[in-house]
Amino acid sequence: MADSAVMKIKCPLCQTTGEFTIYPNINVTKDPEMKKKVISGELFMYECPHCHKKGQVDYGPVYHDMEKRLMIIDCKDEKEGLKLFTQFKEELRDLDPSEVRYRFRIVKDCYELKEKIMIFDEGLDDRGVEVSKFLNRLNVKQNYPDFVIKRVYFNKLEDGSCRFEYIDPNNKMITIPVEGEMKETLRGFFEKENPDEVIINEKWAEKVIENSGENDQAEV
Ligand SMILES: [Zn+2]
Repeated sequence: MADSAVMKIKCPLCQTTGEFTIYPNINVTKDPEMKKKVISGELFMYECPHCHKKGQVDYGPVYHDMEKRLMIIDCKDEKEGLKLFTQFKEELRDLDPSEVRYRFRIVKDCYELKEKIMIFDEGLDDRGVEVSKFLNRLNVKQNYPDFVIKRVYFNKLEDGSCRFEYIDPNNKMITIPVEGEMKETLRGFFEKENPDEVIINEKWAEKVIENSGENDQAEV
């Protein structure tokens, strides 16, 4: 697959057609600058050459960090994402018969892609992060009953501090710092990793918490 391609985009505001370079395969080991552009969002930002209106184009790239042995598939369609996962897993196995352990993730947009990169850069367990995001959601609801949570992200700011961001439909935000003991807990939250468990999000966390509740009851 080519590393880049040119896409034609018609501006919704002035109808001018412009060109936008997309990178379906982002290899940050070969091109470390790309990682910064994913995190800043620059890689997904189109600017109309005529009226300069900016818009996000999330073309669903595959993010590959060979050093960290990490592959993140940005794919809106979960089933399609799983298909790609199987394909890449086999390709990597063919490349390296000793079958180097890779960590795969499927995310549904470029925001989640950025989030995963930051979580792994901090050395955190994304499964723990999702469980914690979900549990803290209940705290936010209790303390701010009128606040409507639309999205929740782990974010690392430029000053190095980390936090959970609970965002409402108007982009208002309630934040919970991720630091100290809490952050340590999120490093090794679960013992083992299941290599086929590749969609790790809040829905996943909700299920894990539900199941653990059932197990507790069974023990009693
Ligand atoms: Zn325009």
